[in-house]
Amino acid sequence: MSDHLVSVAVPVPMPQAFCYRAPRDCLPGHRVKVGFGRRTLVGVVVEVVKKPPPGVSTIKPVKAVLGDAPLLTDSAMDLLNWCARYYHHPVGEVYAAALPASLRQGQVLPEPERAWRLLDDAPSPAANASRQHVLLDALRAAGGMATADALPAIAGRAAVLRSLLERGMVERCEAAATPPVATTPAPTLNAEQHAAAQAIGQAVAAGDFAAFLLDGVTGSGKTEVYCAALQSLVAAGQQALVLAPEIGLIPQLITRLRQRFAARVETLHSGQTNAERARVWADARRGDISILVGTRSAVFTPLPKLALIVVDESHDTAYKQGDGFRYNARDVALRRGQLMGVPVVLGSATPSLESLHNAQQGRYTHLRLRQRAGAAQLPKIDLLDTTNLQLFDGLSEPIISAIEQVLKQGAQALVFINRRGYAPTVLCSSCDWVASCGRCSAHMTLHRQRRELRCHHCGRTARAPAQCPDCGSDDLGAAGAGTQRVEAQLRKRFPGIGMARIDRDSTRRSGALEAALADAASGKAQLLVGTQMLAKGHDFAGLALVAVADGDQGLFGADFRAPEHMAQTILQVAGRAGRGARAGRVVIQTSHPEHPLLQRLASGDYGRFASAALDERREAAFPPYGFQALLRAESVDAQAAPAFLKRAHDAARAIAAAGIEVWAPNPAPMERKAGRWRWQLQIEAKQRGPLHALLGELLPQLYADPQARRVRWSVDIDPQSMI
Ligand code: ADP
Ligand code: ZN
Ligand code: ZN
Repeated sequence: MSDHLVSVAVPVPMPQAFCYRAPRDCLPGHRVKVGFGRRTLVGVVVEVVKKPPPGVSTIKPVKAVLGDAPLLTDSAMDLLNWCARYYHHPVGEVYAAALPASLRQGQVLPEPERAWRLLDDAPSPAANASRQHVLLDALRAAGGMATADALPAIAGRAAVLRSLLERGMVERCEAAATPPVATTPAPTLNAEQHAAAQAIGQAVAAGDFAAFLLDGVTGSGKTEVYCAALQSLVAAGQQALVLAPEIGLIPQLITRLRQRFAARVETLHSGQTNAERARVWADARRGDISILVGTRSAVFTPLPKLALIVVDESHDTAYKQGDGFRYNARDVALRRGQLMGVPVVLGSATPSLESLHNAQQGRYTHLRLRQRAGAAQLPKIDLLDTTNLQLFDGLSEPIISAIEQVLKQGAQALVFINRRGYAPTVLCSSCDWVASCGRCSAHMTLHRQRRELRCHHCGRTARAPAQCPDCGSDDLGAAGAGTQRVEAQLRKRFPGIGMARIDRDSTRRSGALEAALADAASGKAQLLVGTQMLAKGHDFAGLALVAVADGDQGLFGADFRAPEHMAQTILQVAGRAGRGARAGRVVIQTSHPEHPLLQRLASGDYGRFASAALDERREAAFPPYGFQALLRAESVDAQAAPAFLKRAHDAARAIAAAGIEVWAPNPAPMERKAGRWRWQLQIEAKQRGPLHALLGELLPQLYADPQARRVRWSVDIDPQSMI
């Protein structure tokens, strides 16, 4: 067969796709093996081209075409091409991010998982064929059908199954055909839930893009609204994508959806093996999965019968990828909805200011749930002035007695402190020495069990010194408190009370998070201490008190988004209280009880907080009233990064249109990290279009900069954090 020219997205940090020769049956969406420099890489064909790009003389043939049919559909590629343009990110890396690792490496697309089904009129095996009996009994116990892996692992299992097949006792079928059973009926929705579900349901039926902001206080039954909206599309054999910001929230979502729907509900997240991920991805692409629940990168999963996208906890900053291809899965979900004509629901108790603004502008339909579902009430929020109070490992006496009261009543209490480790700072009281990381501009955190200092930014560890390394004094102290320190104080005060600490350290071991959450849910752990891992989405019916140990964190941050994130975190953690029959209370320790932000939070009214915050943003022309891009650069040599950004700055200034502000390069708030010097250049614009046009002209100059090799640089569109 004759050849044609194709342009291939190759996973390298270069912006363009590369031209190769390929057989004519090699089409857009096909994976191909190509020679690139001295390496062989797996790329994806983006398009068929008429002629090679100017200046390219020798065109290499692809080394192999993988798979018979293209792996990616046109609509999946439309989304990826949009991402590469919008985020100004190398197209090959965008494609690579959208594929599970094994497919990215060129392995074959997994076949549908096969199962074994018991035949109704099956003859009985001979009485002495005990291994056959074991498998048949297990199949019967599983409701007549199971995958081989789910059957007892007896010796020679595969051979025994084959002989059952030959004797006409079982048949093979696709595992996806297993009809799951719904066990929990839907509750009767209240009026607001009903109206919301109706609006979304109509959009699903219309099969057009529409965006909804489902703005419902914690515990208002947003998940029930999703379920109601999913009902008809699942019955019609369509597919839905449900995104959650982090792995920890997936088990409960999956459980609820599986209880509700007699349909295949599967998940994709980074905690799975490569093989599992590839299998789920392949099943989703084949249309065999009804509801796919996943974290950030699941937004790219091909779903041919997609009819609804739900972004749960849509305000969460975890939707934004923090390095490399810095996409925001919430925004990609919206774009996917637009491209595919599918409605998108953004759910949150504390919507991002951007989303609220979009709702105010009429771009999203604003659906509100103002009341908690069932009999539960929203908790009362009190500010506790700690200015004149002594703190015992971060906790004041009034907080400790409030906890004591709750424990006496047999209820649960939760202490929230968004800092792990024992103490964030170790210092010498005789001189000025502070334990800091030599490779980052940051203090080392004390971790108590092993008397270890750890840098939370680069992972460096060191033994905690017994004497000051500078002056030799024994007067070393730990300042501030983290989860371990609060836990130690609580254990001292409340010996014998079941306790669970939930942070990244305590949950590193696989299964540890599930075990701790189970203890919290069952009430076995009456006292809970944790970071934001504990703040989101969880439902502890016995929880009567939430104590926020540090209400000042985030009040005076340099980042203009800090107040928004603080308000969201505090209201989310507050929302854990009083979800059952018990009334809930929230106490926030602060040394600034008069601060207007805290005052507004104490009223519990996020809407009030948000409209004040939006006013401030408008005045400063910050997003959503302006648009930002951040050019980041880092280098081992202290001069290279600022020099690179200085050249970028001059180039940008030369092409910037009116209404675009190009700021001078600045050191990043954390100027050094893991031994590299970090700088950034901020570009702001009143309109999105001119900002993207500027970047479109600027970036080719930066790629061509001969000194660019000395720095690592990247573009961050709609940056969420300056760190
Ligand atoms: P959210 O997602 O808004 O936090 P959930 O959907 O988890 O809220 O609902 C909170 C609790 O209220 C859950 O236990 C849920 O089963 C219950 N619930 C939700 N809607 C109703 C309803 N209409 N009637 C009774 N209980 C409900
Ligand atoms: Zn000292
Ligand atoms: Zn460090």
